[in-house]
Amino acid sequence: MDKSKNVLKLNKIKEILIIGSCFMLFFILGDGNLCYLKSTIGLPCPGCGLTRAYLSLLNGNFKKAFHFHPLFFIPLIVVVIVLLNFQPFLEFAIIKKIYLNKIFWICIVVLFVILYIIRMILFFPNIEPMKFNEDNILFDLIKNVFL
Ligand SMILES: [Zn+2]
Repeated sequence: MDKSKNVLKLNKIKEILIIGSCFMLFFILGDGNLCYLKSTIGLPCPGCGLTRAYLSLLNGNFKKAFHFHPLFFIPLIVVVIVLLNFQPFLEFAIIKKIYLNKIFWICIVVLFVILYIIRMILFFPNIEPMKFNEDNILFDLIKNVFL
């Protein structure tokens, strides 16, 4: 692998770190809610419950992790694939193949959308993690401007 390819991969890593830092800043400056959608309009997003799923998993509670987000293992697989693809030192042909496969990414999105619809039907608006957030920014704005 030549040097320019390494530079490109390092730039990608920098981009990922910058985007990650922006997410952390939003979390630190926000109301402590990790979800942008839930914070702004009150509705849960397709990823809601992932953080609690991972915390449950770290505590050894697989059942609770599954309750918070049944697809919690997929983002872990995605992170491994992305990191292995962008690391500048080794090249894995199978990882590159998966990373460049559009069907793989479409399947992940479709899975999350289907699960989101199912969870919205079953749990919204009263059961965590699909609970409606009444302290959302939009509600506050409407209350302050119109009421
Ligand atoms: Zn969310």
